[in-house]
Amino acid sequence: MITAAHLEELLSDLIPIGLGEDGGTTRLAWTREDEEAAAWFARRAAAIGRTMERDPAGNLWAVPDTAGPWWAAGSHLDSVRSGGRFDGALGVAAAFAVAEHAPIAVISFADEEGARFNTPTFGSRALVGRLDVDDALDRVDDHGITLADAMADAGVDPAGLPDAPQWLEKLRGFLELHVDQTRDVAAGRGPAGVVTRLAARLRLQVKLGGRADHAGTTPREERHDALAAAARIMVRADTEAAQRLGMVFTTGRLEVEPNAPTTVPSRARLWLDARAPEPETVESWREAVTAEAGRVADEAGVTLALRTAAWSPGTEFPDDVREALLAGLRPPKPRIVCYAGHDAGVIAGARRAGMVLVRNETGISHSPEEDVSLEDAAAGANALLAAAGELA
Ligand SMILES: [Zn+2]
Repeated sequence: MITAAHLEELLSDLIPIGLGEDGGTTRLAWTREDEEAAAWFARRAAAIGRTMERDPAGNLWAVPDTAGPWWAAGSHLDSVRSGGRFDGALGVAAAFAVAEHAPIAVISFADEEGARFNTPTFGSRALVGRLDVDDALDRVDDHGITLADAMADAGVDPAGLPDAPQWLEKLRGFLELHVDQTRDVAAGRGPAGVVTRLAARLRLQVKLGGRADHAGTTPREERHDALAAAARIMVRADTEAAQRLGMVFTTGRLEVEPNAPTTVPSRARLWLDARAPEPETVESWREAVTAEAGRVADEAGVTLALRTAAWSPGTEFPDDVREALLAGLRPPKPRIVCYAGHDAGVIAGARRAGMVLVRNETGISHSPEEDVSLEDAAAGANALLAAAGELA
């Protein structure tokens, strides 16, 4: 059995790393704080008689002395700026607790948050061969440092990054425990819940081309206002989303040219992010929005180019893994659709995987207000342990 006290002990020398005065955690990938967290990982590995290894993507592994490939458990040790103390860290600590009782590997995936280089799930995507290596290595942080240089500074040779998928052969499956980033588990009245699937996600990029003109002297009928059209498309896309069950919609980014207070906007680019449990829901939203955007552009006399910037039909976690995790929980056992990306979702594209979410009463994440009771976390960790016994 894994106890809250055991998790507290594991976390005691991890939580202080990168902890700010506001109570938020800042451990960006490939920084000194991230290295300190890797040193914590190495100490915890040594405490259970294992040696920390780093794969070519900088993912941290602690494997058992049995013959591989292994089932593994873990999460990530990096954070966003001023994020929650348990996001990622709790999953790695729980994995070390499980590894004391079961022959599983412990993994901490590199740069899950992507907060420094906009490269979310960097390590897990590199492992399954779904990372555009050249594009990633050229990315630059706020200080003009490339990801390649940051990796090299942290002691990981960026030239080796394309070899990361060779390590996938060591992995049979992956289990992740993570703090709930919603109130879904709390609403289901359980200390922990099991993720059934990751939601389908679509990002559309919409480009509108009009004509720059004088904001005062251009009559209504002569305007080709790209931003006015963009505004109508945003509202209609939101209205369409509201009519579909379980769907969330965000216009996350908008660029306007010339972006001058007294000029009719000539160009607008917007990024629409839509997510729903089932891919069919997102597809039907896409059809409606495409038709609506065409009508709006015609009425406004602007050109329209619409393209898919990112699409994932969502990830269904395998039944047997899900059931093995559910069997390790006491009722009630909330089943959750997860709307955020996670390493377990990436790994699920290549290996069997499953996920447990631990109740977070605030529902807030990526913030110091994220909160977890270690009693709840222990219940989730024991579900992982039970599943590891069943699967490994
Ligand atoms: Zn996380």
